[in-house]
Amino acid sequence: MKMLIGGKPVDACDKTVIEIINPATGQVIDTVPNAGTEDVAIAVEKAKSAQKEWARVPIHQRAEILRKFLALVDKHKEELAQTLSTETGKPIREARAEIGNISIGFQAFIEKAKHLYSDVIPSGIEAGQDNTIQFTLREPIGVVACIIPFNFPCDLFDQKVAPTLMAGNAAIVKPPHQNPLTLCKLTQLMIEAGVRNGAIQILTGEGPKAGAALTAHPDVHKITFTGSTAVGIETAKAAASHLAHISLELGGNDAFLVHEDADVDLAVEEMIWGRMYNCGQVCCASKRFLVHNRIRDEFADKACKRIRELKCGDPSDENTQIACLVTEKAAQRVEEQVNKTVEQGGKIVLGGKRNGAFYEPTVLADVPKEADVANDMEIFGPVVPIIGFDTIEEAIEIANASKYGLSGCIFTSNMKIAMKVATSLECGSVVINGASFFRSFEMPFGGYKYSGLGTEGVLSTYAEVTRLKTVVLKDILG
Ligand code: NAD
Repeated sequence: MKMLIGGKPVDACDKTVIEIINPATGQVIDTVPNAGTEDVAIAVEKAKSAQKEWARVPIHQRAEILRKFLALVDKHKEELAQTLSTETGKPIREARAEIGNISIGFQAFIEKAKHLYSDVIPSGIEAGQDNTIQFTLREPIGVVACIIPFNFPCDLFDQKVAPTLMAGNAAIVKPPHQNPLTLCKLTQLMIEAGVRNGAIQILTGEGPKAGAALTAHPDVHKITFTGSTAVGIETAKAAASHLAHISLELGGNDAFLVHEDADVDLAVEEMIWGRMYNCGQVCCASKRFLVHNRIRDEFADKACKRIRELKCGDPSDENTQIACLVTEKAAQRVEEQVNKTVEQGGKIVLGGKRNGAFYEPTVLADVPKEADVANDMEIFGPVVPIIGFDTIEEAIEIANASKYGLSGCIFTSNMKIAMKVATSLECGSVVINGASFFRSFEMPFGGYKYSGLGTEGVLSTYAEVTRLKTVVLKDILG
């Protein structure tokens, strides 16, 4: 498959490619261009001129074009889901759900764009301005680099591309290098729907090459990045060199607190959804299970029993609930992290074995609060490390000891304790009696501390992809 620059499918200028591998089989399924500095320069130049044209398209016409795109997505939904599952290793049912989300996300951003009203500052508030009216306008920022991670490429395409385009910007999508194919297909459908001449482009390639050249380009006016904290920091440095606007949605090590008065069965069910979905490769998956010592064994036993019931296997099988990780290297990393946790005192009570890109769902009991996984080690896999606590204050202290602060959650039947935890956790969202893996398109999703800068969602993204201008009608009255 080729990348799409200036509305056309093209190779990289130096003709290099990267292979796309089906992680479940190890087979090469396609190649994509490995873009570099020269390709980035061409794409940015095209985006600059296309943006001016696209910004002149009235909002209702932009909405019509994006709705046409949604109709095309609907027509091709099964093919898109199959591609997503094959290149990512997601169970086919999860891939279909992600394709289904495209319509939910885009419709919400399209509607919101029609209701972005300005403010009017009336005359007479400050002395000397009795006859002057001021009002605000939201203007596009310009060229927006949308940098997307491997785990939910389509969901993040929705979160970034829909508001970027509806606000009148040009979008340059940098997909993950492991699994760019579905996003290339979505970009093609968008061009077919009428987003023309480079208002949407996709630049495939490796992060340190294509991604770094894009973030360093002085005519990229805004970078919306989702990915790891290490690359997020590099991106912030690159953006600072040319004062690009920036939003960062980064890593997390979300705490899942279960108090002694909790409904343990509910907590276990939410753990299944909130930790095992996408084989644990979720930014806001619960990744540290802080369980009151009185119910710790009960939680561990029930967790193991419930996990054993899950159907693991081939992502293309309709019944599979847990498949493989995105690459064999990713599974090796999870294996190393579990081994490290065992060295630090944790005990494997379920799973713990790897086969290629497949890693068994694993439960680690008796993990000490000093272990790396209890603090800053983000395990991107189906692993449940259980850490005991005696008081809710101790649980909050362990949760907040991490440098990350994406999301968190608390299970308790006492609303006062729930609210104490919700207001004490240093993170961007807290779920009460549900796993931290809760994300609606509407909510302002974002992290505290090393989990990010800014928020993303229908409620807040337009403020991040537009600039505010004030127009002053000096002495217009009287
Ligand atoms: P990653 O940081 O390796 O890659 C993310 C994107 O950045 C990819 O497109 C990659 O090609 C690109 N990239 C890599 N190096 C680059 C560079 N030097 N300059 C510019 N771009 C570069 O992350 P990943 O492994 O794809 O995703 C997993 C991470 O993302 C986890 O830490 C996870 O928690 C985080 N994540 C966060 C959120 C959120 O909303 N907070 C959502 C999903 C994933």
